[in-house]
Amino acid sequence: MIVLGIESTAHTFGAAIFKEERVLANVKTAFSTKTGGMVPARVADHHIEICDEIVRQACDDARVSPKDIGLVAYSRSPGLGHTLRVGATLARSLALLLKKPLVGVNHCIAHLEIGRLMTPAEDPVMLYASGANTQVVAYEAGRYRIFGETLDIGVGNFLDGFGRALGLGFPAGPAIERLAKKGAAQNVALLELPYSVKGMDVSFGGMLTKLKTMIRSKKYSKEQLCFSVQEIVFAMLVEVTERAMAHCDKKEVVLGGGVACNKRLQEMCSSMCKERKAKSHAPRNEFLVDNAAMIAWTGLRVYHQSGAVKPEQAGIDPYERTDDVEVNHY
Ligand code: AMP
Ligand code: MG
Repeated sequence: MIVLGIESTAHTFGAAIFKEERVLANVKTAFSTKTGGMVPARVADHHIEICDEIVRQACDDARVSPKDIGLVAYSRSPGLGHTLRVGATLARSLALLLKKPLVGVNHCIAHLEIGRLMTPAEDPVMLYASGANTQVVAYEAGRYRIFGETLDIGVGNFLDGFGRALGLGFPAGPAIERLAKKGAAQNVALLELPYSVKGMDVSFGGMLTKLKTMIRSKKYSKEQLCFSVQEIVFAMLVEVTERAMAHCDKKEVVLGGGVACNKRLQEMCSSMCKERKAKSHAPRNEFLVDNAAMIAWTGLRVYHQSGAVKPEQAGIDPYERTDDVEVNHY
């Protein structure tokens, strides 16, 4: 079956075509700014403007005609209401127009499922480190359970907030990684920052406040700040991932989310796993960041498990949690 996937939970609008277990096309465009963050209504306008072009591009790349599509899958949760609505409306319209079944997908679960498809990981603990979400998730008893998570903001939003204070623009993650690498090459000293791990949960608000004060003091170079932030924040994430692995007795980690593109985070996860005789896996960046391929793939599995939803009932749920969803297709 040929599946069209549509992703629109936040800054990325994507369309992908899947055939069985193969990605035929995975097209996306992300809203970005030189300064400042993202205003939901403005991001939604961006998605509305380009959505038809992106779907057409996906069909062209895959060399399929819209009439060959057998299933339409869209991200129904969680995310920004404004942008979720754009994807859901487009998906409903296409399903009605093409007279094809429609399914809604939980975006966080899709990150996990694409990680399992694209890497050798079978039953991993997932460190999902993205803009809005930071969770340590593993499958237990019929659901993906959240073992640890951020108690305030997502790690990506934290990095973007820190980057904004440093004047780096949005998204700041890649620029922070470059500056941290320079800092490491310069052998800068590690700065002291609040390390907040509570059981398997983490929090970043206190560190962000402290960093803003440090930036205003003009005492520290960008390189030293970025290096210290990465070392300390990633140590927090790796620590809670390791605790979840011990708790669930699992031997694999799979990474998900845009922050997981960071090579230093990948390296720290790998060395933690090596010490416990476990394995850490990261899919290619294309499948770590928000993408529609994961929505198409998970949509196909959801369809086989539970069938389609009626277009008039195909809504959105900005606040749905990973463990709200029953999963029988694991
Ligand atoms: P997502 O929400 O999964 O699309 O991820 C977006 C987030 O990933 C943004 O907050 C980016 O700043 C962050 N990000 C992207 N690339 C990197 C990187 N190389 N290092 C750290 N964070 C990154
Ligand atoms: Mg995501």
